[in-house]
Order: sequence, then C-alpha cells, then structure tokens
Amino acid sequence: MVRPSVPEADRRIGVRYPVLSHGFVALVDYMGNDASIVQAARVSYGAGTRSVRDDRGLIRYLLRHRHTTPFEMVEFKFLVRLPIYIARQWIRHRTASVNEYSARFSVMPDEFELPAESEIRRQSSRNRQGRDEALPPDVARRFRDDLARTSAEAYAAYQRALKDGVARETARLLLPLAYYTEWYWKIDLWNLLHFLSLRLDPHAQEEIRLYAAEIAATARIVCPIAFEAFEEFVLGSTSLSRREGVAVAALLKGATPEAACATAGLPLVRDDGRPLASGEGVEFLEKLERIRSLD
Ligand SMILES: Cc1cc2nc3c(=O)[nH]c(=O)nc-3n(C[C@H](O)[C@H](O)[C@H](O)COP(=O)(O)OP(=O)(O)OC[C@H]3O[C@@H](n4cnc5c(N)ncnc54)[C@H](O)[C@@H]3O)c2cc1C
Repeated sequence: MVRPSVPEADRRIGVRYPVLSHGFVALVDYMGNDASIVQAARVSYGAGTRSVRDDRGLIRYLLRHRHTTPFEMVEFKFLVRLPIYIARQWIRHRTASVNEYSARFSVMPDEFELPAESEIRRQSSRNRQGRDEALPPDVARRFRDDLARTSAEAYAAYQRALKDGVARETARLLLPLAYYTEWYWKIDLWNLLHFLSLRLDPHAQEEIRLYAAEIAATARIVCPIAFEAFEEFVLGSTSLSRREGVAVAALLKGATPEAACATAGLPLVRDDGRPLASGEGVEFLEKLERIRSLD
C-alpha cells in the first residue's frame, strides 16, 4: 500500500506563511488526502459503489448527508504562532490536539500584536462583538501609540521580574493579551472544516479569519474535492429555519419580503412599531440579500 501524498502539500511542509505582525501558520505534517476519504467510505458502502458514483460524487454525497467519519481519516498538524487574544478563541475548538509553548518553562519573546491604524475601528452598533466604521485618524493613532507604549512597559517589567528571580510562571502575569504564543495544532479534516465554518465566517474576529484562511489554503491543497464540497454545501450554503421556510413559501406565492416575514411570524418591528436592528426577521432578510447577490 502506498502512503497517499500530495506533492504541492509536501512543498508547504515547514514553510511559515505569515499572518499579522509576528504570526505564522506552518504545515508540519499531514496524513491522507481525498483518496483516504473515498477509501474509508467504500469500507462502509462496499466496492460496488465505485461503478455507481465516482470519487467526487461520493465525497459530495458524504458531505451533503453528513456522513462525517470518512473525513476524519485525514489529519493535519500545524505549527501556529498567534497573539494570546486569538489563541483564547482558537482553543475553544476542543476536537484538536494542542501543545502550547510553555511560559512557565521558557521566556516569552518580546513580540506583541500592533494592528495597523486602519484595523483600529469603531465599536459596531449592530454587532456587539465586532468593529466596523473607521475612527478619526488621531484616535486610531493614539490607541496604537498607547498599545505600543504599554506593551513596551509591560515587557520591561517582565524582564525586571525575571532578573529579580521571580519565577517565569509568575512573571508572565505582567504580559498582556497582545503578546504572542505558539502551538502545535493537530486536527482531523472533519473538525478542521467545522473550525473553518465558524472562523472564516464574517462574524468571527478579523484576525482569526486571517489564520483560518491560511489553514483553509492548506486543506484545499491536500483535499481539493472535499474542500470544493465544503465550499458548496457548507460555506456557500444558506440554511433555513422552519419559519423561514414558511416565509419562502409566501415569497414563492408573490408576497413581498416584509409580508412574508409577517406571515411566517418573523418579527421586523417592535411592539411600538419601531424597526428591529437584529433578530430572526432581520437575519432572514439578510439571508435573502445573500441569495440575491449570487445572481
Ligand atoms: C463568532 C463567534 C463568537 C463567539 N463568542 C463567544 C463568546 O462570547 N463567549 C464564549 O464563551 N464563546 C464564544 N464563542 C465560542 C463558541 O461558543 C464555541 O465554543 C467555539 O466556536 C467552538 O465551537 P464548537 O464547540 O462547535 O467546536 P469544537 O470544540 O471543535 O467541537 C466540535 C463539535 O464537537 C462536539 N463537541 C465537542 N466537545 C463537546 C462536548 N464537551 N459536549 C458536547 N459536544 C461536544 C460539538 O458538536 C461541537 O460542535 C464564539 C464563537 C464564534 C465563532
């Protein structure tokens, strides 16, 4: 039996693709490719399926019908360098195996994330977790200067503490969230795609989306057919709730979107008649817009 390999992926091994000011994503190793998914699925379905469906058709069928375990036969191991505030989001993905740089054992390098002024934006009024409009340049500059100054002060205090003999595990308390950490991250393809579905999404913080894009670039090379199916049936798809289905039925009968929302009980206004800025009705209209933009 020959070990499956992808020459383009082999060339990526060990290459550090830069992300943010000091971060990177590097593929350390991988196991399997599209053929491994097919091989695992055919154990379930039997060799006879080959004549019925080609490999691409089978992989697309598996993804559409959430037959997930064949996708777990492909594994990836990455080395990632990332700011602690992004690592805290990333580590929530519990299905990966992680080994992180130990700041108890080693001294933290003097590297912190310093966003460009264009990335320092106003708190979003629609998304409590996000940022949107530009700030006046002097405000963005002041934030950036403050971040640079306080980080330098924090690192100087950290070095002083180490020099004074304070244990590394205690001295590190002086370092803020913008400092960088590093880890090995090993995950199977199915859970990697789940990570990407959440972290490529526009609701995810921009910085983690940049890392997700690098992870996606590797996954696409190792498993192009599975990745294409993921783009088709997950990333590019729009799911509908039962009520949204009722609203679509009303649209098909010629109702306006607002009337369809009313029919389906998807609220667009408050009790006092003022328009809602968020909620199921607003999200349904956003879905319609997204579908319209596919034209
Ligand atoms: C835009 C965005 C905003 C977020 N905001 C917040 C926030 O404000 N506060 C916050 O705390 N978190 C927040 N999160 C993190 C979020 O709640 C999840 O913890 C994170 O996205 C990981 O998702 P997951 O559990 O599906 O992934 P994984 O941990 O990778 O798990 C994959 C799947 O495995 C299954 N699974 C894994 N472990 C278990 C378990 N123990 N029990 C049952 N099933 C399990 C689940 O089906 C899960 O979907 C946010 C995430 C996103 C994307």
